[in-house]
Amino acid sequence: MNFLEEWIHSVIGQELRRRSGCGEFRDGDHHPEIKGQDIKGYQLWKISEVVKYTGERSPFYRRLYQRAGISPGKVRSLDDFSKIPFTEPRDLIRRPNQFCCVPQSEIFRGFSADGTPDSLRVFYTKDELDRIVASIAAALRMVGLKEGDVLQIMFPPEAEWGCDYLVSRAAESCGASAVVTGQGLLEEQVQKMVEHRPTMLIGSNPYLYAITGLAEGRNLHRLGIKSIILSRGCSYFPFDESIRREVQEVWGCRAYDQYGTMEMGLAVSMECPAQDGLHINEADLFVEVVDPETGEVLGAGEEGELVFTTLSRRCMPLVRYRSGDISRLIEGKCKCGAEILRMEGVKGKISRAEGGASQPA
Ligand SMILES: [Zn+2]
Repeated sequence: MNFLEEWIHSVIGQELRRRSGCGEFRDGDHHPEIKGQDIKGYQLWKISEVVKYTGERSPFYRRLYQRAGISPGKVRSLDDFSKIPFTEPRDLIRRPNQFCCVPQSEIFRGFSADGTPDSLRVFYTKDELDRIVASIAAALRMVGLKEGDVLQIMFPPEAEWGCDYLVSRAAESCGASAVVTGQGLLEEQVQKMVEHRPTMLIGSNPYLYAITGLAEGRNLHRLGIKSIILSRGCSYFPFDESIRREVQEVWGCRAYDQYGTMEMGLAVSMECPAQDGLHINEADLFVEVVDPETGEVLGAGEEGELVFTTLSRRCMPLVRYRSGDISRLIEGKCKCGAEILRMEGVKGKISRAEGGASQPA
């Protein structure tokens, strides 16, 4: 069991209890043990709910289901689900509003791939952002963030409620303090490290690797940093064991791979101290691995393209969304003792030319 698994179990336990009409957990209530089959049952239930919900509320999905001959209220098995056509990033770029399932007034924050109106955009309610913060907090605790720690966040500055802010709120909810220092000139970043004396770092993989290049000459290992999170969100950055080894040797601590995308709520999966695959947030995401050419769902452990379905989003749920990212799933118990699903670090990105095979317009 690790902190992320504990959080996932409590979310799923709460949802299953609500579903069975037992109300919410209160302090002192006995939390039933969540097993692998409970997670699978929870996910199937949530999948059928999200298909029904999007069929009722999203113009894009209503049309998609109609054209594919899918009855959104009757998806009850993974076999039924696998007949739903994929959603592609270009569908979101073309018609983001057709994915929205709540009134405009409930949209709290939009994220855009490059800040322009023509780029990929995803919208969230305030509750959804709070849930993202909670999942990030669980992942930070999994790699040792504790009360009194200082997390230095090296993500580019964003408008309010951006990625940097969500991570800092997550750190603060763990009792740690957070300092956001952007992703500026390396020399300035090093100065800020000396000034703030962080105990943990998070930033994009290439940026932290570049900082590592300076760290040796400046004796930055003396800061005593205990964990470094190499984030690979939104775009593909190479990460291999030689990069990890170098980072770990220079700083004298563990370096963790983290994967997230804007569409999937930034925090998809992260390594635990066993560094044997990234634990996936199974409370909020259902993951399939498909053959990138044929779209066929691949068996356990086979390498292919990650396809995600959001399980808890109301604003802009996505069903069978093609990430373009290549990886494989790892089943079975992790060395840390947790049994939640893991994935290997992303190995590459498929770029699909705009205007290729697409979903119905
Ligand atoms: Zn683990």
